Amino acid sequence: METLYGRQIVMPKEELVTLDDTYQTRRALIIDSNVTCQRCGSRFSKEVARLPTQDYYCPYCIKFGRITSQSYLVSQEEKERPARFITFNWQGKLTPAQQKVSQNVLLNFQQNKHSLIWAVTGSGKTEMIFNVLLYCLQNGGRVAIASPRIDVCRELYPRINEAFPKEQTLLLYGDSNEAYRYSALTICTTHQLFHFYHAFDLLIIDEIDAFPYAGDKMLTFAQQNALKKSGKYIYLSATPPRHLLNTIKETFGIERLPLRFHKRPLVVPQLIWYEKWQYCYQSNWKMKKLISCLKSLLQDNNVLVFCPSIFYMQKLYAKVCEYFYPSEIGCVSAQDKKREEKVQRMREGGYRILFCTTILERGVTFEQISVIIMGANHKIFSKSALVQIAGRVDRKGEYQHGQVLFFYNQQTQAIRQACDEIKKMNRLAKEWLLA
Ligand SMILES: [Zn+2]
Repeated sequence: METLYGRQIVMPKEELVTLDDTYQTRRALIIDSNVTCQRCGSRFSKEVARLPTQDYYCPYCIKFGRITSQSYLVSQEEKERPARFITFNWQGKLTPAQQKVSQNVLLNFQQNKHSLIWAVTGSGKTEMIFNVLLYCLQNGGRVAIASPRIDVCRELYPRINEAFPKEQTLLLYGDSNEAYRYSALTICTTHQLFHFYHAFDLLIIDEIDAFPYAGDKMLTFAQQNALKKSGKYIYLSATPPRHLLNTIKETFGIERLPLRFHKRPLVVPQLIWYEKWQYCYQSNWKMKKLISCLKSLLQDNNVLVFCPSIFYMQKLYAKVCEYFYPSEIGCVSAQDKKREEKVQRMREGGYRILFCTTILERGVTFEQISVIIMGANHKIFSKSALVQIAGRVDRKGEYQHGQVLFFYNQQTQAIRQACDEIKKMNRLAKEWLLA
């Protein structure tokens, strides 16, 4: 039964007798003075988790199915796989800067070291991991690429498939249609890592700084469980937080890339004071600034308008429809059933203006785009979110005069830090180009 290699499933005690000795079983919950969950790593008091039967359950990872003190976690270690031939079909070419990062990451892996690729948004991170992916697969290894965002997984999947056409890559996320099957190459959301145990020789985690990953202890626990004991990580980030850099500096090779593929600098945000942006949809007078900026940006590009909440987005969307052809304007949020469709339509140029929440903050690439953030001082826009959103602009193709506008009515640390970081990356890029 190959399908269980590296997988972790939950079984009640009475079913364990059906298993042969190739399976390992662990109690799902360890009970001492407290309760410790072996699936999510949470430790909690007995009082909060006692069932009427006097058993206990874990309330923290219940969304993956309930586990109780009667449950066992069953897994099966994968036997070593021989080296094999891998069809690799990528026609692109790395820039010298990408080449260097790609080689270093491979070298780190060969020398038993983890890597962090610290690269500006739009620098072609995926292409830089192809080398190490290929090496790992050729040597019989198993790889997963995990991202906190479904959209990123969906966008990554066809690209990986094209480069490794014979691998039968598995795409896994919360409500994906595809059932689990064994595959040497898996693309999944980080939440899916809770279902793996000692599975991967190489675990690539995209946007290591992103919500909901950052600071999530349960996910860190799952991520550690999913890796084989001898396995290695590659973290990808455009904006690694300081505490992460401090934790990994001894054990990771840190590879920086301040240059985008086309070598143009990052677009520096323009800060524009917008008194009462929170209520601007209430009157035409308050809308004036937004409408005139939109008209000006639309001369060169389509526009993404980021909003801090769905409620606000819908109000603003309805108001803006009074000024433009409604058929050319869309709005999309995480709750939207037609989300994929709408994103695709924007990609094809079907909308001139698309209102969105932070769901389009990263991973998604549109050509010919400018960006507006309504209320960049809102607390939902962290430094890393602001950098990511600004990074949506001018990602590929010819230069299109894409612009980034931050509307705000209060200076915040996040705004300051985001602008500083973008300028710093640009300075570094300039040095690299001159070197
Ligand atoms: Zn748990």
